[in-house]
Amino acid sequence: MTVRVRFAPSPTGHLHVGGARTAIFNWLFARHHGGRFIIRVEDTDLARSTRESEQMVLDDLRWLGLQWDEGPDVGGPDAPYRQSERVDIYRKAAHDLIASGVAYRCFCTEEELETKRKAAEAEGRPPHYDLKCWRARRGDDDAGEVARAPHAIRFHVPEDGDVTINDLIRGEVTWKKESLGDFIVVRSDGLPTYNFSVVIDDHEMEITHVIRAEEHLTNTHRQVLIYRAMQWQVPEFAHVSLILGSDRSKLSKRHGATSVSQYADDGYLPEAMLNYLALLGWSSPDGAEVFTREEAVAKFSLDRVNPAPAVFDVQKLDWLNGQYIHRMSAAELRPMVAKFFDAPWLEQGIDVVKTSVHKLTEFEGALAFVRRYEAPQIDRPFAEALAADLRTNGAPRDEAGYKAMVERLKTSTGQKGKNLFMPLRLAMTGSEHGPELVKLIPLLRHASEVDPAALSPLARVEKLL
Ligand code: GLU
Repeated sequence: MTVRVRFAPSPTGHLHVGGARTAIFNWLFARHHGGRFIIRVEDTDLARSTRESEQMVLDDLRWLGLQWDEGPDVGGPDAPYRQSERVDIYRKAAHDLIASGVAYRCFCTEEELETKRKAAEAEGRPPHYDLKCWRARRGDDDAGEVARAPHAIRFHVPEDGDVTINDLIRGEVTWKKESLGDFIVVRSDGLPTYNFSVVIDDHEMEITHVIRAEEHLTNTHRQVLIYRAMQWQVPEFAHVSLILGSDRSKLSKRHGATSVSQYADDGYLPEAMLNYLALLGWSSPDGAEVFTREEAVAKFSLDRVNPAPAVFDVQKLDWLNGQYIHRMSAAELRPMVAKFFDAPWLEQGIDVVKTSVHKLTEFEGALAFVRRYEAPQIDRPFAEALAADLRTNGAPRDEAGYKAMVERLKTSTGQKGKNLFMPLRLAMTGSEHGPELVKLIPLLRHASEVDPAALSPLARVEKLL
């Protein structure tokens, strides 16, 4: 059996980190099993769905480095992959259900239903549909006259409507028939409800494993009943837990950025984001926290996905993003950093500060000292000796040049250790803290040669005299 999984976004905004994590789990699962990863766009909510949003969601998935085998943009054997283009398929399926006697036309108006709901509530009964149109049904032979009056199509919950699934993350889950009333599968406007279209599509697309958010767990009851009525194979289900904010309430804008594109704009690397989101609920069997996507594919399994909610921890994400930045070369980072901040000396600058940076956006601040200098207070004889050395020998270009300069300064200033390095650092940057001098001074020299806005080591010391 070939594994076939799908990510089914509703295109009503940006891709949320929760959706991204669901997509990542589906993708990891498909790749681990050599299966197919499908994108299906669930855009039957015409009022809220837009093509722009679909585009944004697909862009965000691509930014994360996910690739799909079938989808609205790449096509595939089960095209179309947008539900709004599959409405005829759902209508036909609904008619099959009516013909086989498990669904029926319901002519009750919204007001009538509302009145019945209120009455049920007042009498303390569950607000289930009262079966009026089920009792009055006459089969599908009345399709002509009668069916032209506005109506919805309802699914009839059978006597044996209890359902038990073995969720691959949560274990056994059972629902009782009594918890459901007959439910609508096609609305009076002709559009299918989510619970109907999702079953038709998952069946047609031969989805073997439905991996999705926990909020859909309760929908599974209705969906399994439809599979049974159609006499279709029921897929495996795996419901991924919620993501919570640091205060353990459901992750929302209050907690900070929730959309993937916002993290891209804030200077996170796609590899780090993928790694972090994979860790939200899944853990590698070897306990590794930093891994490549290939390693994650090799090790992924649903039985290591935790059913408990995962807490989104921005500090951990920052730490992880820093790990990725520290491990990359300055040449690899340059084009990514340049989207936020550029300078002719950028690559050398990245090399000097990258171990202190956690996000791409932080390079600008970390390198501000190259173009900005506020003269500090330092010992005048020290400044004079330093200026003399820079005038005679020029500023060092590299490590060897730096070491030679330090040796000369030991002699000319009579200082060593902290008493040498602290005034030297202050003279160069105006600050007591910063990157290693051995890389910093060559950077200042190089920058002043290629960037009129950067002050050379000598120009800095001269401001102290
Ligand atoms: N379109 C649904 C959502 O965005 C997904 C439904 C599913 O995966 O079954 O929540």
